[in-house]
Amino acid sequence: MKREKHHIVANKLAYAKGKRPPVSCILCAVARDDPQVDILRVFSHGEWFVTLNLYPYNPGHLMIVPQAHYLDVRELSEGQVLELHRLQLLSLRVLDREYQPGGYNIGYNIGPASGASIEHLHLQIVPRYRNELGFFDIISDSRVIVEEPRVTKQRLTAAFAQEAEAFFAED
Ligand SMILES: [Zn+2]
Repeated sequence: MKREKHHIVANKLAYAKGKRPPVSCILCAVARDDPQVDILRVFSHGEWFVTLNLYPYNPGHLMIVPQAHYLDVRELSEGQVLELHRLQLLSLRVLDREYQPGGYNIGYNIGPASGASIEHLHLQIVPRYRNELGFFDIISDSRVIVEEPRVTKQRLTAAFAQEAEAFFAED
């Protein structure tokens, strides 16, 4: 358990220093199952997939990503926006079920001044928990309790598979 916590902290430190896998676009690499990136995808549907954030802010931190390399939500068709919205609702259902967070932050970083670290369009869903520590508390204090990404992946892959069938049958 202790070793796994340190693994998370080391990843966060590497990320803060700008270390990245040697691919031109990390989300295109995830989309094509490139072995140079950790494949953390938990669900695929149509033109989209849902992946764990490679450097999660919190347990259950997800990103909904188009398979194609879009840069801006304004490039999407109305049909694509609807699919994205439906996947957002499914993701919230899965996260409510598995983690019961106290809230969520959901959004995009678009454009060079936004602070985006990945230009490939992605909708971030960050579960928020009561009494959680902030990012800089986490990198300066390894006692924080976080879930090992492999465990999160198994847990959410199973939950998406179970919830998706009923969710898409409701329409
Ligand atoms: Zn891309």
